[in-house]
Amino acid sequence: MREPTLGNPQNTIAVLQKYQFHFQKKFGQNFLIDTHVLDKIIRSAEITKDDMVLEIGPGIGTMTQYLACAAGKVVAVEIDKNLIPILEDTLSGYENVQIINEDVLKVDLTELSKKENGGRPIKVVANLPYYITTPIIMGLFENHVPLKSITVMVQKEVADRMQVGPGTKDYGALSLAVQYYARPYIVANVPPNCFMPRPKVGSAVIRLERHETPPVQVEDEKLMFRIIRASFNQRRKTLANGLKNSPELDFSREEIETAIESLGKGASVRGEALTLEEFAALSNLLIKKE
Ligand code: SAM
Repeated sequence: MREPTLGNPQNTIAVLQKYQFHFQKKFGQNFLIDTHVLDKIIRSAEITKDDMVLEIGPGIGTMTQYLACAAGKVVAVEIDKNLIPILEDTLSGYENVQIINEDVLKVDLTELSKKENGGRPIKVVANLPYYITTPIIMGLFENHVPLKSITVMVQKEVADRMQVGPGTKDYGALSLAVQYYARPYIVANVPPNCFMPRPKVGSAVIRLERHETPPVQVEDEKLMFRIIRASFNQRRKTLANGLKNSPELDFSREEIETAIESLGKGASVRGEALTLEEFAALSNLLIKKE
């Protein structure tokens, strides 16, 4: 296997010039140009030759080269057709890489993991396009794609939101959803100068290790997530008002108030004060009344 050739500014610039590549802002293209960050991502993802890795958005193939050296197989999904000839060039020495030219949100990833990995759990490693971070991560979890872990570069602020608990301003539906499915852990903060072009905001690498069984028992997952969304849609309202006003829910005020009381909470409690365990309990209390 060839040693990675990409990951520093000079070689990235040379590839971009050779193909006269123009960055497309709409695709969230910020390419990594720091070998230390790349090494750190690969190390923290703990990839072995037994792993199949799904990379979302390989760009010019920088991280793909590193992944190919560490993993048994890499499947990389890239939306931008202008990058495909570049990838065929930069990845020509790597026989365990497959490139798919598609919008990742339109790919059936469960089917893909069945086809490419016999349905065994895969690892997702990526420098994500920031404009679709949440739909990508939620899609992986909610569609029950067989996963070992997700190790991704995201906006720093989004990484913070994924790992905080109740009572902080960043706590919300994303925190609860991520923590229901996985154990989040911030691996590194990454400044804008590690990318080309430089993003306006700081980034972070976060690792989400999938729980084998969720940390709370919920009778109806979909109902719990509707309750969570309703609680955070109107942050300044009380939990009871948020649930009563949600078009996704159909409970009477009395049912809601009784359930909140059974949780041992006062009538004025807000959603942001509830833990995942309490949202699970609330949804189990309300389920019988729907
Ligand atoms: N992995 C490369 C790197 O680290 O240098 C590029 C990362 S860049 C932040 C995001 C990549 O995702 C770009 O190559 C972009 O074209 C691609 N992308 C954007 N939207 C996508 C989508 N819906 N499906 C697949 N790839 C997408």
